[in-house]
Amino acid sequence: MKSMAPFFDQDHLALRAHVRAWVQANWDSLNGRVSDVEEEARRLVRLLGQSEILAYVIPKRFGGQREKVQARDICILREELGRASALTDAMFAMQALGSYPITLYGTEEQQKRYLPPIGKGVAIAAFALTEPDAGSDVSSLQTRAVRRGKEYYLTGVKRFISNAGIADSYVVFASTEPEKKGKGISAFVVEADDPGLIIREKTQLISPHSIGVIEFEECVVPENSLLGNQGEGLKVALGTLDVLRCTVGAAAVGFAQRALEEAIRYSQDRRQFGQALAEFEGIQFKLADMATELEAARLLVYQAAWTHDSGSEDPKQKSSMAKLFATEAAQRIIDQALQIHGGAGLVVGNIMERLYRDIRALRIYEGTSEIQKLVIARELLKKA
Ligand SMILES: Cc1cc2nc3c(=O)[nH]c(=O)nc-3n(C[C@H](O)[C@H](O)[C@H](O)COP(=O)(O)OP(=O)(O)OC[C@H]3O[C@@H](n4cnc5c(N)ncnc54)[C@H](O)[C@@H]3O)c2cc1C
Repeated sequence: MKSMAPFFDQDHLALRAHVRAWVQANWDSLNGRVSDVEEEARRLVRLLGQSEILAYVIPKRFGGQREKVQARDICILREELGRASALTDAMFAMQALGSYPITLYGTEEQQKRYLPPIGKGVAIAAFALTEPDAGSDVSSLQTRAVRRGKEYYLTGVKRFISNAGIADSYVVFASTEPEKKGKGISAFVVEADDPGLIIREKTQLISPHSIGVIEFEECVVPENSLLGNQGEGLKVALGTLDVLRCTVGAAAVGFAQRALEEAIRYSQDRRQFGQALAEFEGIQFKLADMATELEAARLLVYQAAWTHDSGSEDPKQKSSMAKLFATEAAQRIIDQALQIHGGAGLVVGNIMERLYRDIRALRIYEGTSEIQKLVIARELLKKA
């Protein structure tokens, strides 16, 4: 990992060594068959909390590892966790996504209440932005929050919400002034037992993930649930996503690294026409292409994370490039790794079959590949 040193300090290299050793020690526990996804999700959050890995998603003042949360730490952790297990990565990532808006915009009181338990893995976090009619087009969201006295009343439906039904707190985006569209959206922290928060559906995806539909039926929250200023909800959401997007790329790098390792191993073991697959030039070319794409993806991810942490420039464009390239490249790498496994890669329970399903969501959540291209192009045209 020395070749990646320009983007990292000694403590990042130490963190990577630490998490890699932790993953190795817990390999079987992270790689088991998942029968009850919610139970497994809860177990993984507790495990990540006990190992102090979650302490990297919150600031030191609230029990975290560093004064400021770092994109590089989260990338290193997602890459190494993702190499072992998509669900472990997702549970780690959601603790970051559901807490970072509070780290960025929370009042002292909100930060004290929510961040320490999330960092210890004793509370589960969620982020509720997407709606049935507002996916990529977030500013058209329909959930309303109406202020009456010292309370807000939320009404609306959110779908594809990771941790719906197992989360203790949800950062929820709702319109307080619908006529202002995007500028009328506000963010709130809603607790699982706030009256009127109803879990409507647990949704099954192609890869194990705790996710569902939430409805707010006149869900009443105190005025101090407002996160940031009224009307600044999109700033809260996009400020969070601009940083965490590159970490989705890091998870993709972890998945692709696993696929490459499996493909190398299989191609050396499997013999056809009297020799190992790895001895055929056609297979070597595939491995070379996979490794090269992986290295390029890794560099874009590390560069984006470093750009955020160093504060040298707005990380938005680089974060989008990293997510776009790394997730698309990982899909191609995993597809080629499965091809090298032949029919064996399609058997249910085979690691390639699992990775093939696991990678797909990463090109969609936190902004689809098409939306990343729009972000990149917008930045290009703005600068021109
Ligand atoms: C595993 C998983 C976990 C998720 N977790 C969460 C969560 O915790 N919280 C949350 O709020 N959301 C979550 N989501 C939702 C996710 O962010 C949305 O699915 C995503 O933003 C896309 O929205 P959509 O599915 O409605 O697709 P749509 O926006 O309907 O897009 C459909 C297709 O049209 C394309 N498209 C849309 N607009 C344009 C355009 N202008 N130009 C070109 N193409 C376009 C898209 O790229 C896509 O290919 C999760 C999704 C998944 C799969």
